[in-house]
Amino acid sequence: MMAAVSVLQTGGRAVLFEKNEKLGKKLFITGKGRCNLTNDCDMETLFQNVMTNSKFLYSAFYGFDNRAAMDWFEKAGCPLKTERGGRVFPVSDHAYDVTAALEKQLRRGKADIRLHMEVKRLLAEDEKIKGVELADGSIEYGDAVILATGGLSYPLTGSDGDGYRMAAEEGHTIKETSPSLVPLTVQEEWCRLLQGLSLKNVKVSLFMQGKKPLYEGFGEMLFTHFGVSGPLILSASSYYGQKRKGEKATLRLDLKPALAPEQVDKRLLRDFEENKNKQFKNSLGKLFPSKLVPVMVLLSGIDGEKKVHEITKEERTRLVQLIKNLKMTVTGTRGYTEAVVTRGGIHVKEVNPSTMESKIIEGLYFAGEVLDVDALTGGFNLQIAWSTGWQAGVSAAEGNSFCKKE
Ligand SMILES: Cc1cc2nc3c(=O)[nH]c(=O)nc-3n(C[C@H](O)[C@H](O)[C@H](O)COP(=O)(O)OP(=O)(O)OC[C@H]3O[C@@H](n4cnc5c(N)ncnc54)[C@H](O)[C@@H]3O)c2cc1C
Repeated sequence: MMAAVSVLQTGGRAVLFEKNEKLGKKLFITGKGRCNLTNDCDMETLFQNVMTNSKFLYSAFYGFDNRAAMDWFEKAGCPLKTERGGRVFPVSDHAYDVTAALEKQLRRGKADIRLHMEVKRLLAEDEKIKGVELADGSIEYGDAVILATGGLSYPLTGSDGDGYRMAAEEGHTIKETSPSLVPLTVQEEWCRLLQGLSLKNVKVSLFMQGKKPLYEGFGEMLFTHFGVSGPLILSASSYYGQKRKGEKATLRLDLKPALAPEQVDKRLLRDFEENKNKQFKNSLGKLFPSKLVPVMVLLSGIDGEKKVHEITKEERTRLVQLIKNLKMTVTGTRGYTEAVVTRGGIHVKEVNPSTMESKIIEGLYFAGEVLDVDALTGGFNLQIAWSTGWQAGVSAAEGNSFCKKE
């Protein structure tokens, strides 16, 4: 959509083929239906949040950055607001308004929008694009084609990997794909007991080998029937995916990150003093959510029936260690159906970073998640889509006679 808008604003004509019954099906579910469409950060932060091939995006980001995207949406009739961590949303809190703004500009520019139209194949001859073949067998000719078919995540929204196949058929290399920003599966059975429990203000660290964490973050996480999810875990999964080669990793959970171990110990002493004649299992209600209490009792190795005043210093020290360092073994990730983004895709070495044009097929351009680029949460993945889409659109319109208005 943004690529087509950019073609129109550069003075070209655009035909948009969308296989769904409506435009922007994935956009509707982004940001939990609110669409975190970009991040109001500086350039350095923008690049820092790109996990794969950030250098490739240099020209695209400078050509149409987050501020340009915000400006564009505001002018297109979608007022924006910025929330915690620079996350930008429509003031209305409706993702629909983002799609509506794009669609309005497309219609105003007289884009030829063809819904229910699945592109089956790219048509190229002598390393030059000729057009596309549609699923009904018909052929649409053109000198420029922008492939913006998304990745493999949430395939029900339309992104089912078609673009990779079509690009590969024309000689492009596809970097191995994997789900990213995705829940993690965990080995420990006690995790299942916590299914549905959401923890706020915790610290999560991810370790593979070595003592240095690959990822550390403060915030919110969630236990599920298979392991863990929530904002901190999705971010951790992006780092896990970078290093993993079928390896296990360790997640360490600090339940009281604002308190040093000695402070946790003092807090425990206070709680224990108040509950000294109670059983241990009934003494932790103030410290943890009720669902977590039996699990902490189990993992502490302290008899739950034991009277609090009988708990030894060693046992209390063990409990402090558990609170500050609750370990889980990560066995893998969930699949594409639960992944916010796909890692891997069209090899960026075969794409001109200044134009998004294929280095193999003249007149073929790429935009968005179909490329081997991905970022962390916070609006950065959509910013990649806006920036690369904009750049592909400008280049396609400027570089090809087909797109120029007669
Ligand atoms: C649940 C969820 C929440 C998210 N939240 C955010 C967020 O808040 N902020 C953020 O920055 N990112 C978010 N993302 C990521 C972001 O949505 C994607 O990175 C972004 O949509 C990629 O844009 P795209 O245009 O490349 O692909 P898509 O948005 O997937 O669009 C590709 C389009 O191409 C169509 N298509 C595919 N194949 C064909 C074909 N053969 N013929 C015709 N049409 C075809 C599809 O139907 C689809 O409409 C979220 C993702 C998910 C799954």
